[in-house]
Amino acid sequence: MPKVRVRFAPSPTGYVHVGNARTALFNWLFARHHGGVFALRIEDTDVERSKEEYEKQLLEDLLWFGLDWDEGPDKGGPYGPYRQSERRALYSEYAAKLIAQGDAYYCFCSAEQLEAERQEELKAGRQPRYSGRCRKLNAEEAARRKTAGEPAAVRLKILESSFFWNDLVHGPTVFSSEVIGDPILVRSEGNPAYSYAVVIDDHLMEISHVIRGDDHISNTPRQLALYRALGWEPPAFAHLSTILGSDRARLSKRHGATSLQSFREMGILPEALRNYLALLGWSPADGKTEILSPSELVAQFSLDHITKSPAVFDNDKLHWLNRHYMKECPPGRLVELAVPYLEKVGYLAGHPGADVLAWVERVLAAVLKNISSLTQLPEAVQVIFEFDVERARATPEFQELLADSGARKVLKAFIPKILMENPLTYERFREIAKAVQKETGKKGKDLFHPIRVAVTGAASGPELEKLVPLYEAGSKLPLAHHVKSVAERLREFAEAAGL
Ligand code: GLU
Repeated sequence: MPKVRVRFAPSPTGYVHVGNARTALFNWLFARHHGGVFALRIEDTDVERSKEEYEKQLLEDLLWFGLDWDEGPDKGGPYGPYRQSERRALYSEYAAKLIAQGDAYYCFCSAEQLEAERQEELKAGRQPRYSGRCRKLNAEEAARRKTAGEPAAVRLKILESSFFWNDLVHGPTVFSSEVIGDPILVRSEGNPAYSYAVVIDDHLMEISHVIRGDDHISNTPRQLALYRALGWEPPAFAHLSTILGSDRARLSKRHGATSLQSFREMGILPEALRNYLALLGWSPADGKTEILSPSELVAQFSLDHITKSPAVFDNDKLHWLNRHYMKECPPGRLVELAVPYLEKVGYLAGHPGADVLAWVERVLAAVLKNISSLTQLPEAVQVIFEFDVERARATPEFQELLADSGARKVLKAFIPKILMENPLTYERFREIAKAVQKETGKKGKDLFHPIRVAVTGAASGPELEKLVPLYEAGSKLPLAHHVKSVAERLREFAEAAGL
């Protein structure tokens, strides 16, 4: 195999969609697997839609996603510039060359004329394609008109009757040229067409493999025609299948989160998204491993195991992987990621000190198994931060508890004993519960259910063994939202319950 040089070539016209993120990932994995080069090229020839802030966001999103590039607009490289808007001179140079050698021609047809022809073709039930009218013009005459200032596009002469390439995903692929009219290379106002700029760039950047979405399959023939006209060897092509939503329609915004940014906001870890997207259309050689660390992905990635059929985006599986990676995440990093979520709901504020962060780490350990993304964190930690006895009073658990004489007995014995403890440790909490067991004859659920409801305000949740020390430690910390100690909770409870 020649030296692997691949590129990700996004247009900065919006946020990075999962489909593009997967394309970027496959290119990156392929480059890293083969010790090749991964280049980032910004396709910003659509001046109206391309925006600098999108480009900035794009670079940031890719870095968040964990992809680094060897060459790109921000770091340069031997084949720069890496922004198409800065490569216009090259596009003009090769367009002039193609015209001079008779492989391209000026086209003076107006947009209205072309549209009228298109409509006619459609009406006649034919697939519209350019009639080739200007191909017949005398070249010298056309050059004169162009020099005289008449607006003209540059079109490539399609000479082949069919196109063939061995797609690395779809296998041997044939296209008849019947549906392909002479394509525009440079528009009359001077903008290069996508299929033209992409060929010039891929060749000059010595791209060995073009790995991209299969929405570009139908562009490949005209790109091959350009390689032929320029006498260049085309790269290998691999067209990745479309990503579908659960209803099997092309994944789009209406399916919910689809941009890298939205997954980030949802609290999905980049390594989880990377693992998930790698499996969207690719599988490791054993066909079944689902959890692959970043280095395992690089080691195992190959274009041989990419499926042709569309892949269906499965949010549950993404969350399942996210749960796994949250558990694997070094606690310090998880705390860092979690803090903004806790700040957003007012539980933390400012720059939490080391003691607060150490406590947050314990909070996370207590609730981690109940969440599959960080957005669920504020709700999961309510059991720690909130204790609203009025709200608890309205719940059936509370009502049932108070109607149960056994439960009342347990709490009447338990609460005063706890209130005498200061500080309260979990060991003492246990010992007091044991003493109450002896005193009341209640054990197991009959003992611990009332205690849990009274202390936490809820019938279920993390183990008391974890909660009690968190309440005690949290109540002494300078948090933006006060965490009530066990005693504070029980005092409120006893009052509300008339115990
Ligand atoms: N700018 C194109 C896109 O965003 C790149 C296509 C290609 O990789 O050739 O779809």
